[in-house]
Amino acid sequence: MTRLWIAALTLVTVGCGTSSPTAESFAGWQTPAEACDYRCTSTYAEVRAALDRVAAEAEGVRLGTFGESAEGRALPLVVWGAPDASPSTVRQTGKTRVLVFANIHAGEVAGKDAMLELLRDVASGAHRAWTDSLVVMIAPIYNADGNERFELENRPYQLGPVDGMGQRPNAQGLDLNRDFVKLASPEARALVGLIRDADPHVVVDLHTTNGTFMGYHLTYAPGLSPNTPEGIDADLWDRWLPAISDSVLASDDFAIWHYGNVPGAFGEPVSVPRGWYSYSAQPRYSSNYVGVRGRYGILSEAYSYAPYRERVAVTRRFVEEILDRTWAEAAHVRRRVAEADRERVVGERVAVRATWDALPEPVDILLGAVDTVAHPVTGAPMYERRDVREAERMPAYVRFAPSESVTAPALYVVRGRVRERVAGLLDAHGITYRRAGVPAGDRQAFRLDSVRTAERAFQNVRMQEVFGAWAPVSDDAAGEGALIVPVDQPLGRLVVMLLEPRSDDGLVAWGVLADALAEGRVPIERIPAP
Ligand SMILES: [Zn+2]
Repeated sequence: MTRLWIAALTLVTVGCGTSSPTAESFAGWQTPAEACDYRCTSTYAEVRAALDRVAAEAEGVRLGTFGESAEGRALPLVVWGAPDASPSTVRQTGKTRVLVFANIHAGEVAGKDAMLELLRDVASGAHRAWTDSLVVMIAPIYNADGNERFELENRPYQLGPVDGMGQRPNAQGLDLNRDFVKLASPEARALVGLIRDADPHVVVDLHTTNGTFMGYHLTYAPGLSPNTPEGIDADLWDRWLPAISDSVLASDDFAIWHYGNVPGAFGEPVSVPRGWYSYSAQPRYSSNYVGVRGRYGILSEAYSYAPYRERVAVTRRFVEEILDRTWAEAAHVRRRVAEADRERVVGERVAVRATWDALPEPVDILLGAVDTVAHPVTGAPMYERRDVREAERMPAYVRFAPSESVTAPALYVVRGRVRERVAGLLDAHGITYRRAGVPAGDRQAFRLDSVRTAERAFQNVRMQEVFGAWAPVSDDAAGEGALIVPVDQPLGRLVVMLLEPRSDDGLVAWGVLADALAEGRVPIERIPAP
C-alpha cells in the first residue's frame, strides 16, 4: 500500500511537473504503523512528532490542544480550514465543522493510526476541496494516558497490533465513553468543552469492537437516543450511513452496517430472542450525547479480528466518506443544525429511559467465522477473521424507543447545597441557567417514595434510581437562592435528561444528589409547561 502511494506521488510529479513542496517533503513519509508494517501502533510521542511535522509543513494545518489528561499530557487537536486552532476561531469561520476523535479506548488504536494516515495525505495535497466549506478537527489520541500503558496482554483475542497497545480506561480507571454526562475525568471535561465551544456539526468517535464473529469490517451507530432531532436522524439513518457504507463496499469491498451483537457474544446468559442488538441509547456515550445536543453523532467500530492493516484502512475510508458527504452537503448540515437549535421541547414528551426497538422487517445480518492463531511473542490465542459473510435473517434491534417519558416542564429549580456542583456541570455542558429566588407559581416537587442504590460501584459511582411522582407544592420558598434552568433553550432535551429525577442517565442516576436523597428529598423542583 505504501509503495503504491509513493509511486502515485511520483507519477503526479513526473506527469504534471507541478508538485507542491509539501507533497515532495511528505513523499515516502510513513506513519509509525506503516513503518512497522502494522505490527505496532503509535506512541504518544510519535503522534506528537507526526502532528508537529504535519503542522509545520502542510499548508493551512494548525496544531493546538484542547485540554490535559489526568496525568498532565496535552491532548492534541489538529485543525484544518481555520486561521488558528482555537474553538472561537473555528466557530467564527461560519463553515461546517467536523470533529473526529480516536483512541477514547486506548486499546482500540486503529482510528489513531488511520487519522495519522489521513493527515499525511492532507499534507501531501489530498482532499484540498474540503476546506472550501469545512473545518476539520482531528483529536487522534484522546485517551493519551491509556495509550501509554502498552501491554502485550491488553485486548485479549484482538488480532494485534502484536507489539502491544494501550488500555481501555484513562489513568483514573474511568471509561471515557461512559463519562459524557457526569464528566468525572479531565479528558471528558476537555472534550465536552471543545464540543461546547467549537460546536462541531458532525462528531465521529473511532473504536474497535470484538463480540459476535461477524462478516462486517466495520459497524456504526448514529446517535441512538429517541430524543435526537428528527431531521438529523433522517439524514443519518436514511441517507448518510447507507450511502457511506455502499461507497466503501464498492471501493474496497469492506462490508459495513449498524453496530450490534447476537446475544451470548460476550459469554452472557441469553435472555432475549436471537437478533442483532445495538448497545444503548444513553447520552453517557459519545454519539448519543452529540445527538441529544442536536448534532450529527457517528460511532465507528472496526472489527477486532480483522488484520490491523485492514482495521486502519476501513476506519480511514469510513472517515473519508463521512467528510466527503459532509462537504457535499455542508450548507444543508448547517441548516439542519440551526433547525435543531430552534426546536423547543417545552410541553413535549421527552424520553428519560429507552429500550431496544426492532426495525420493521428482519434483516440479513452478515455473520462471520474466525481461526485461532498464536500471538508471536506471548503465544496467547488471537482470532483472525475468515473471509466469509454468511447472511442470517434476524430481527435487528438497532433502534431505541422510549420506555418512559415525561412532559417537559417550562423550567427546573435546583435548591440547596448541591447547587454549586450542579452549576459546574451545567456550565461544562454549556446549558444556560440563572441564579434567582425560587419563582412563585405552580411548582412541583418530586414526592420520594423510595431510592434504589446499586450494591456495587460502576465508574466509581453507586448508581441510583428514585421512585415517586411529581406533586404540587405550596410552601413559600420565595427568596431562597436557587438555580433556575429553563427548558426553553437549544439544549432543552439535555436539560430534561440531566435534571428529570427518573432519567437513567441524569444527576440522580449518577449519585450527584445522593446526600439529599439520604435525607429523603429530591432537591430539584419544576414548573410545568403552561
Ligand atoms: Zn471502544
